[in-house]
Amino acid sequence: MTIRRQTVTVDVGGVPIGSAHPIVVQSMTNTDTADAEGTAIQVAQLARAGSEIVRVTVNTREAAAAIPEIVARLEEVGLNVPIVGDFHYNGHILLREFPDTARLLAKYRINPGNVGAGQHHDANFATMIEVAREYDKPVRIGVNWGSLDQQVLARLMDENTAQGSPKTGTDVMIDAMVVSALESAAYAEELGLAHDKILISVKVSSAPELWQVYRQLAPLCDYPLHLGLTEAGMGMKGIVASSVALAPLLTEGIGDTIRVSLTPEPGASRKLEVEVAQQMLQSLGLRQFLPQVTSCPGCGRTTSSFFQELAQKIQDYIRDTMPEWKAKYPGVEDMQVAVMGCIVNGPGESKHANIGISLPGTGEEPRAPVYQDGKLLTTLKGPRIAEDFQALMEAYVENTYGRVAHSTN
Ligand code: SF4
Repeated sequence: MTIRRQTVTVDVGGVPIGSAHPIVVQSMTNTDTADAEGTAIQVAQLARAGSEIVRVTVNTREAAAAIPEIVARLEEVGLNVPIVGDFHYNGHILLREFPDTARLLAKYRINPGNVGAGQHHDANFATMIEVAREYDKPVRIGVNWGSLDQQVLARLMDENTAQGSPKTGTDVMIDAMVVSALESAAYAEELGLAHDKILISVKVSSAPELWQVYRQLAPLCDYPLHLGLTEAGMGMKGIVASSVALAPLLTEGIGDTIRVSLTPEPGASRKLEVEVAQQMLQSLGLRQFLPQVTSCPGCGRTTSSFFQELAQKIQDYIRDTMPEWKAKYPGVEDMQVAVMGCIVNGPGESKHANIGISLPGTGEEPRAPVYQDGKLLTTLKGPRIAEDFQALMEAYVENTYGRVAHSTN
């Protein structure tokens, strides 16, 4: 069992983040925030896919001015997902010029490497913290190695050189990220921001360095940590890279909220990053979002595509029906479903699931036994096996989880 690193709890627009609470899935839009309608539509898609917090870039006056309309549009459709503002360079100006935006955002992301250089750095940072205090908002000190605070890096490089350069450039950079995050958090507290209004992230784009930087940071503070591999990439590369990067840290109890930073394929839905984050937490046994479908890879014993089609159909059906099931059937997300290709592992795996089907492999009799809670329920035959199995699954959900719902009413 994973033992989470102990942290304070930070409330982000009604969503508690910290070790006493489930790890929160969040995402970020890629629309022009100034396009209030388009951004509200994408936020709604992400929220409906399961994103519990959605971040939007607030990079211009037009973007800042659009936040009230985005929030209003979401409220109109009954969505009150917390919206986080991502600020770089001009956050101190925008948050002061647009008080409604400052009030409606659930959290401000501040990148200490991008708040202004030299003498402006502290003043700009202080303005953002002042606004956060005024509107009682939490902040994320979000350090990124692509925009690391150069003053901190130069200072640590000098110190390293003075000591005869015992550390590599990468090690000094990791140190600089940790120092930048912790010094910024300490400065925010000095300015009066409460300890439980601060989250931290230190993102890099390579898995081994992500492990190093978070393992270094984690024991040094009790702020909740936002975990993510920055610029993970596209498609399979991004999914594998993010999973490999985040899984060891999550298993060690490091990470209180995650974001999977996938580059979407042209025209593809943004919600894939939410689905990947959910699946990651579910595969690690850290959270349950929807019933798991166990299906075998298929082999020479499954020469038709029927088996793959059924596995796909059941998976899609579960994902599409889950919002309705979730409201009606508490605990349904724990259900295990098996869709197996032949007699070799089919009956065994199906018996381990709550409900499972073992399809006939090549050369087997065209019959598909269905197992429920470890026992043979029925054997399906004919052209409607997929529909019949779906109906059996629906009945199982109603009888098992519906009863829980009725008994708690
Ligand atoms: S269960 Fe059957 S079809 Fe599936 S991988 Fe195993 S042997 Fe192949």
